[in-house]
Amino acid sequence: MQVKEEQNPQGLEDFAGLSERDQTVIWHPFTQMQTAPLPIPIVRGEGTLLFAEDGKTYIDAVSSWWVTIHGHSHPYIAEKVAKQLQTLEHVIFAGFTHQPAVELAERLLTILPKNQNRIFYSDNGSTAVEVALKMAFQYWHNLGKPRRKVIALDDAYHGDTFGAMAVSGRSAFTAPFVPFLFDVEYIPAPAPGQEQAALEQLQALLSDEVAAFIVEPLVQGSGGMVMYAPEILNQLMSLARSHGALIITDEVMTGFGRTGKLFASHYLSEQPDLMSLSKGLTGGTMALGVTTCTKEIYDAFLSSNKHKTLFHGHSFTANPLACTAALASLDLLLSDETQVAIQRIAHRHAVFAEQLKQKPGVKNIRQQGTILAFDLDVGDASRSYFSNIRDVAYQFLLNEGVLMRPLGNVLYIFPPYCITDEQLDTVYAAVGKLLKQLNQS
Ligand SMILES: *Cc1c(COP(=O)(O)O)cnc(C)c1O
Repeated sequence: MQVKEEQNPQGLEDFAGLSERDQTVIWHPFTQMQTAPLPIPIVRGEGTLLFAEDGKTYIDAVSSWWVTIHGHSHPYIAEKVAKQLQTLEHVIFAGFTHQPAVELAERLLTILPKNQNRIFYSDNGSTAVEVALKMAFQYWHNLGKPRRKVIALDDAYHGDTFGAMAVSGRSAFTAPFVPFLFDVEYIPAPAPGQEQAALEQLQALLSDEVAAFIVEPLVQGSGGMVMYAPEILNQLMSLARSHGALIITDEVMTGFGRTGKLFASHYLSEQPDLMSLSKGLTGGTMALGVTTCTKEIYDAFLSSNKHKTLFHGHSFTANPLACTAALASLDLLLSDETQVAIQRIAHRHAVFAEQLKQKPGVKNIRQQGTILAFDLDVGDASRSYFSNIRDVAYQFLLNEGVLMRPLGNVLYIFPPYCITDEQLDTVYAAVGKLLKQLNQS
């Protein structure tokens, strides 16, 4: 078959840059299209670096929205996916199965908390959360003891689909949709100083009506990189469990080495009933989500009565290419080289954190593994996602060749594990320069 490759089908002048073409046809995520600067066209990625059309390079210090754990265009993952692409690109996953899906499930279960027993595939972090919620609600339904309440943490972020939004904190992001979201009860995130309040409020809310307690373990990402200790989470989980509530740990962001261990749940003595995974799962190569659960939950869906079936699935469930990317990413993640790199980044962050403490204009410096976060202390007005300081800092760092995406006045470094010491130094230096600039103005 002859196929003609057609470029620039809109017939725009060849010299029109990608940014301009983009602007006439694309609607970007989390972007106010009227005021946003033109998007930066990226033509290539390698390791920690992004190469722009204009020849500029950027250090991807946010792992491209927290997904790229081994760096861009990793040759090992590319090779495995390319091979799979020539063998089986996709197959319906109801009534059929395939090697990459089975092998990935087997391998995930060997590294997840011991009580996790089954793997359910979907497409992304939000769907992985939706599935966990549906499993939790239907678990109680199938037992004939329906429970309808969910307890979550203030400022939680669990995704952008309706169920995931419902269990997320109410914010400017969810405001237009509040009338359509199911009711959820919130307790404070148990950050230092809030532990007792969190415990007391959880105690007050628990009853045999509560179906599930959902948390981002140890680090709340989008809520501003809020961090808290494993000890208090153990206490909250055990309290919730004493009332029968199922525990969902949303490890979409914290999974796959980000917190210093393979999963944040590995810092805990209490084990979750359900887990949601995505982001780093495929090394950031392809979209894939996973929900895992215990045998007890799985068993509650087994019946000769078809009404007890989990009626949920996506067209691309367990896509073989995505599963293959995840398998390749696991090979890399579990290698000594990557494990050493994770500890190296954590150590370097800790040293930089000490230096930050000496600098004016910075507060609440916190770290969990490869994530280092701190607040810019520039008065009350700056504390929102919508504050100008965010845009100023974002642009300043880009000009320095460093991609970071501040959350309001919260700055954080969240690098791929392959980042070199030299590149880390560049990131730290750019942050230092930013602080100097902000303190002068
Ligand atoms: C990003 C994120 C999600 C949503 O994942 P998507 O793939 O963006 O839908 C859910 N939970 C947490 C903790 C996240 O950080």
